[in-house]
Amino acid sequence: MAERVAGPEIERLIQLLARLPGLGPRSARRAALHLIRKREEHEKIMVCSACGNVDTVDPCTICADVRRDPGVLVVVETVADLWALERSGAIRARYHVLGGTLSPLDGVGPKDLNLETLPGRVAAEGLREIILAVNATVDGQTTAHYITDLVGHLGVTVTRLAHGVPVGGELDYLDEGTLSAAIRQRTAF
Ligand SMILES: [Zn+2]
Repeated sequence: MAERVAGPEIERLIQLLARLPGLGPRSARRAALHLIRKREEHEKIMVCSACGNVDTVDPCTICADVRRDPGVLVVVETVADLWALERSGAIRARYHVLGGTLSPLDGVGPKDLNLETLPGRVAAEGLREIILAVNATVDGQTTAHYITDLVGHLGVTVTRLAHGVPVGGELDYLDEGTLSAAIRQRTAF
């Protein structure tokens, strides 16, 4: 295991960056350094306390947008997936960003994700539908089942993306047409 070069927050950033396609550990460290050096901009970035999105305001621009359907919540794994859905223009709803997926093999449990506030949002926001827009990976589907158990009894309809999403596919890599179709043709979980 490589020696740690920074505090836990920065190590976490490096680990996240290292997961990006084409970025090895060395370039991930460089990218992290670059981000930290842009400190002035960096400090303005905050995590939305309502949904987990990143923005320069809290609540974020999406949560504060009254033109969106307040009854529909789209659960995504990452901010990158949120961006992909926004690019597709498939839905005008709000989001809940998990910050990853449950992964027993990697030691990622419910407490490591942004799950705690999700059940409370159902009543507080009068949600009628939660769309599980998670990746078609084993961990994504494990997470989808967990969330269905968590909110399924709260009187909200839980749906998932249509099978246009290839197995093992990650939302962020889908073209916008495929993503739109997957949202439109979503099915009951
Ligand atoms: Zn938000």
